[in-house]
Amino acid sequence: MSIKPGLRDLMWMAGGAAVVGSLLLATLHFGDSVARELDVRTRKLEIVDRMRAAVAAASENEQSAVVASTDADSASLAEKFHQLKSLTVDLTYFDPEGLSKTSEIKYTVNLANAKSVFRFNCPNNECIRGDYDLSEALTKAVDSRLTMVTGEACCQGWRSKTVIDVVHCHNILRYKLSLAY
Ligand SMILES: [Zn+2]
Repeated sequence: MSIKPGLRDLMWMAGGAAVVGSLLLATLHFGDSVARELDVRTRKLEIVDRMRAAVAAASENEQSAVVASTDADSASLAEKFHQLKSLTVDLTYFDPEGLSKTSEIKYTVNLANAKSVFRFNCPNNECIRGDYDLSEALTKAVDSRLTMVTGEACCQGWRSKTVIDVVHCHNILRYKLSLAY
């Protein structure tokens, strides 16, 4: 038994502990940013899931998931446009730059149930006071007896509750209305 090796071991141990400690810190730090990134990715996936659910609900249970709620007293499309026999909408949503498509939905409108205030929800869940009102586009189309109309609408709501009066949502909806009389 000599002190020397003991001391040396102790020094090795201290050195080792320092190395392990800094490695651990680095790992923790790295792990932290990975966790954050995963968190963001998870949230994105949740949004995609919600959009998918909305699309599924819309195709199964018609337009209730995408159509903005309107005044229950407003006339139905069938009441407002007697001539209209069928209406199919093709909605494609894009980010504010209009470059990446965020979702797409196509369905045949139930004219008896759909309201003539023809509005669609903004796909941005945090959007404040935003939606797309296609009432005017539809009225013009029916008045001119058009069988197909395409257009683009930009959400005028606010991107989230923290940027009200500062940043517009500006998500883009490109639509196609197919009409029959
Ligand atoms: Zn919006």
